[in-house]
Amino acid sequence: MSQRILIVEDNKTLAKLISKKIELALDFKVDVAYSLGEAKLFLKMYKYFITLLDINLPDAPNGEIVDYVLSKDNRVIVLSANIDKDFRQTILKKNIIDYVNKGGVNDINYIINIITRLQKNENHTVLVVDDSMVFRKQMQNILENMFFKVISVAHGEEALNILNSRTDINLILTDYHMPVMDGLELTYEIRKEHTKNDLAILAVSSNKDNEVNALFLKTGANDFITKPFSKEEFSCRINNTIEALENIQIVTNHANRDYLTGLYNRRYFFDAMSEYENEIADGGEKFAVAMIDIDHFKQINDTYGHEIGDKIIVALSEILRTSTSHRDIVARFGGEEFCMVLKNINRYSALDIFERIRQEIEHFSFSIDKENFIKFTISIGAVVHTGEELEETINNADMMLYKAKNSGRNQVVFE
Ligand code: GH3
Ligand code: MG
Ligand code: MG
Repeated sequence: MSQRILIVEDNKTLAKLISKKIELALDFKVDVAYSLGEAKLFLKMYKYFITLLDINLPDAPNGEIVDYVLSKDNRVIVLSANIDKDFRQTILKKNIIDYVNKGGVNDINYIINIITRLQKNENHTVLVVDDSMVFRKQMQNILENMFFKVISVAHGEEALNILNSRTDINLILTDYHMPVMDGLELTYEIRKEHTKNDLAILAVSSNKDNEVNALFLKTGANDFITKPFSKEEFSCRINNTIEALENIQIVTNHANRDYLTGLYNRRYFFDAMSEYENEIADGGEKFAVAMIDIDHFKQINDTYGHEIGDKIIVALSEILRTSTSHRDIVARFGGEEFCMVLKNINRYSALDIFERIRQEIEHFSFSIDKENFIKFTISIGAVVHTGEELEETINNADMMLYKAKNSGRNQVVFE
């Protein structure tokens, strides 16, 4: 069930245009009301992800609708053609998310971008560190209104404890002056463990300490904002920082993953494995390596075409991914050949998992359409790593795969 958006706008053409654009671009059901009276009826029936409100309506000419909708616990973006400075300031003081001009194509795109941004914000947890309860609450309030999950603490040491116990935080807002550990020391400590690319720090300093901002940046803060700040500047800086972080993650993913299947590529596989081998260097942890290859794949391509062949590679990837735990590594080495590493496992359990995967593929049918489906099988060559070089382990697994192919395919050969 998709969530809902309410547009309240008495210009019917414009309301319908915005509604249509949103429904085309995003997965939302949009309701349109032309007056405060109609909006009240909708608000009785539904809870909205966001409401877009015109502040000049026939039955509410001075933004009265904003307070009404806020009082019903709905989030608000104000739509307006009114650019009167004082009025804008009055509206911005209310607990709204943003204030948007309406009418132009760019304005509608801006609205769609904010909604997309807010949806993504739901996946981010922000840690607010400030010894002043008033500022902490103010920032928490704005952030929660922007759909972020928020944790707030009073000083640096508490912040470090939180960071050690949870992995879901990717943005930290830190004050400068704080007892026990100030914002600069906190930034310095965080940067020992986390880079700018996986955990963003936004420093919040007072306009009295202007040389501190440069120090913050040199110590590893991603950006800073000076108190007192406007809500608009604050949310723009937050959004920019989060967007930069997301973009870096997208680029990293592109570099590490195979384009067709989304599995890790061969290059990343060797990076990840050398990190893992360092981790287990003195612990004696064992891992299993399997080379997996589709049987007679050339025939599938020749019979059904390359595109169907691609889809079968994707389907197999999905099964390999869901058959392993998130710690294990599944990579596409090339064509229809995959390498799988099961971490911290003995020969007996590994064989059990590889055998189950083989059977799952044997029983799997790939549907081409309602009547037709394709069956295929895989061969697996597997070994347990016993301290030799990784290249050698993989070569051994490859030899076992060769044996499996020569002994009739559709089987697991374990060294
Ligand atoms: P075997 O059982 O011995 O593994 O036989 P096979 O036909 O699966 O192996 P072979 O190496 O002879 O052929 C593999 C085929 O896979 C040849 C190649 O055209 C095809 N192939 C390689 N990469 C891709 C790809 O990304 N997509 C598709 N559709 N086909 C691919
Ligand atoms: Mg302070
Ligand atoms: Mg093959």
